[in-house]
Amino acid sequence: MSLEKYVAKRDFTKTAEPKTGKSKDKSKLLFVIQKHDATRLHYDFRLEMDGVLKSWAVPKGPSTDPQTKRLAMMVEDHPMDYKMFEGIIPKGEYGGGTVIVWDEGDYEPIEPIKGKKAQEKYLLEQLEAGSVKVILHGKKLKGEFALVKTRGMGENAWLLIKHKDDYASEKDVTKKDKSVLSGKSISAIAKAGEKVWKNGREQQTDKSTSAKKPAKKKASLVK
Ligand code: MN
Repeated sequence: MSLEKYVAKRDFTKTAEPKTGKSKDKSKLLFVIQKHDATRLHYDFRLEMDGVLKSWAVPKGPSTDPQTKRLAMMVEDHPMDYKMFEGIIPKGEYGGGTVIVWDEGDYEPIEPIKGKKAQEKYLLEQLEAGSVKVILHGKKLKGEFALVKTRGMGENAWLLIKHKDDYASEKDVTKKDKSVLSGKSISAIAKAGEKVWKNGREQQTDKSTSAKKPAKKKASLVK
């Protein structure tokens, strides 16, 4: 478990992002894709492995067209509770901007391996080797995808590629822009956040309590 980088980058008295979290599923590996309107809009592709979410930032988002390879920059591991995180990271903080849960579900390696522990072990070897091949069971993304480490673009550059299967399509899947948790778009969440901010400016002056409250709420929701 390597959350040191994640924790070091964030001030948890200011952001409501989760600090920790355990997997909620004993038999299946989980994945999440967040749409994140930060300095630059991107999608965060996260796969549960070894008790954390291995994470890649995908600037253009996933494509369901096997001809289209999407750059995916590997970033720091995120805690499991990040899977449920949707909301606004305050301006000026790391990753400041609006986040929605764009897709989520469980996943498995393409290689038919039984048992979560054995699947994880196999996937960690694939990760180490720079080629992770998975079957996603999401609400938007389904079927086979590969993450392949690529040379010449820095050590964290990978490519996200859809394999040819029944779920391959030339349609732009990012046109489906609503959260699979709340049904809201990024702009709807951002607008709602602005309203809360304007109406509750006095209550929000004590930043340490306002930042802690939503974090607690999230923790109880997922239990
Ligand atoms: Mn991000």
